[in-house]
Amino acid sequence: MTVHFPFQNSYSGLPDSFFARVAPTPVAAPRLIKLNRPLAVQLGLDPDVLETPEGAEILAGKTVPAGADPIAMAYAGHQFGQFVPQLGDGRAVLLGEVIDKDGIRRDIQLKGSGPTPFSRRGDGRAALGPVLREYIVSEAMFALGIPTTRSLAAVVTGEHVIRETALPGAVLTRVASSHIRVGTFQFFAVRRDTDAIRRLADHVIARHYPELLGAERPYHALLGGVVARQADLVARWLLVGFIHGVMNTDNSSISGETIDYGPCAFMDAYNPAQVFSSIDEMGRYAYANQPRIALWNLTRLAECLLPLFSDDQEKAVADAQDILGAFSETFSDAYQAGLRKKVGLFTERDGDDALIQDLLDTMAKNQADFTLTFRKLGDAAGDPAADDARAQFMEPAAFDEWARRWHERTALEPQSAAERQAAMHAVNPIFIPRNHRIEAVIQAAVNDNNYAPFEELVKVLAKPFDDQPDYAAYADPPLPDQRVLQTFCGT
Ligand code: AMP
Ligand code: MG
Repeated sequence: MTVHFPFQNSYSGLPDSFFARVAPTPVAAPRLIKLNRPLAVQLGLDPDVLETPEGAEILAGKTVPAGADPIAMAYAGHQFGQFVPQLGDGRAVLLGEVIDKDGIRRDIQLKGSGPTPFSRRGDGRAALGPVLREYIVSEAMFALGIPTTRSLAAVVTGEHVIRETALPGAVLTRVASSHIRVGTFQFFAVRRDTDAIRRLADHVIARHYPELLGAERPYHALLGGVVARQADLVARWLLVGFIHGVMNTDNSSISGETIDYGPCAFMDAYNPAQVFSSIDEMGRYAYANQPRIALWNLTRLAECLLPLFSDDQEKAVADAQDILGAFSETFSDAYQAGLRKKVGLFTERDGDDALIQDLLDTMAKNQADFTLTFRKLGDAAGDPAADDARAQFMEPAAFDEWARRWHERTALEPQSAAERQAAMHAVNPIFIPRNHRIEAVIQAAVNDNNYAPFEELVKVLAKPFDDQPDYAAYADPPLPDQRVLQTFCGT
């Protein structure tokens, strides 16, 4: 049996300046630790064959499969506001693209597969811990219904990578609808290569925004499309308590997927100013700052597209500002609508936004757990005697006062208690990838070569909205001594 990837590569057919041709670097002793079998099937790959030693060699970058056209993509980016004209895939290789069962083109990329011409001082490798973290969180995001890159496989390489200490090396197989970023446009913009920007924009429209083909002003429409998808994406992040942690323009996807899981984390207690990333000292990428940063990143994209808008610079800028102006409303519409659903409102009335804001403010003051407050509120919608929501608040009386107003408001709608509870449980997960759980999984894998906790966590998170009584403890916030205060980049 040989592993067959039905590659249909398109990016590697773009001009040479878009990438470097580079194969993954062979590793010593690859061992498959996780294959995402349903995703393999979705991609038209045979999971049984991928689980053979030959499959592990491919997923570790030791063997390049037939039909692959391995490249490292070029990009630039603003990192924490500082522009870096050349970044690129420093530790990732795009094997190629396949068309999945839904007809969607998907990149298959190895992350941690060795150095490339874009590695700068890096070793091109990834450590096991961050690979497991990305696997867990990206698949959890998928299960939550949030656009995201996905994880097809994780392999250990049999080699060590040197960070502060020697750690087991690993490779993640990442699947994305593409790896084109805001930074990809910036790479050409800083080089004043307008032809390349147009080429890239045409590729992106055909691939991600086919509905815009034939639009009167396709590049304007493209910017509008990315603005809309990013606004929607960030709203979804906020609605589940997700903090990306490193929203640099090179980590901002043009397709509107969540990409580059580094120091990301879900918050436990609700705190709009929450930051976990050890390198985000200024709180630039704090939870509540994410919409503002998304717009900042989109503004960088708009700057790249100006030469395609008009030869008249002033007119181009005015057009861009117009399009970017839609971000705020698109974001707040999505966010407010999501919040209304989270508190079980079926209709929209004056005063709803204030009611919801008062809940959030009370949660912040009382260090209420974000996920459990909303989930348990759903229980209270079904049965007013259920009081686990109020138990999330340091001063439960503050919740009681709010809950009285909430019951008055929901009573204005005809839906039954059971209907309201079902609707709320469908949008308020009970299981999220809590940081302390991820840390425990990584410790077991790295220190004891024990992957059972990883398997169990991945399994629970695949059904985040289902009560899973056997795994109830996975819903619990960390005990004080389990709290993770900082997360680290995967490098
Ligand atoms: P990230 O923070 O993961 O988005 O990475 C920022 C840039 O650094 C990207 O261009 C990465 O490809 C590159 N990079 C990160 N880690 C490594 C590494 N270990 N070796 C080489 N390049 C890396
Ligand atoms: Mg990155």
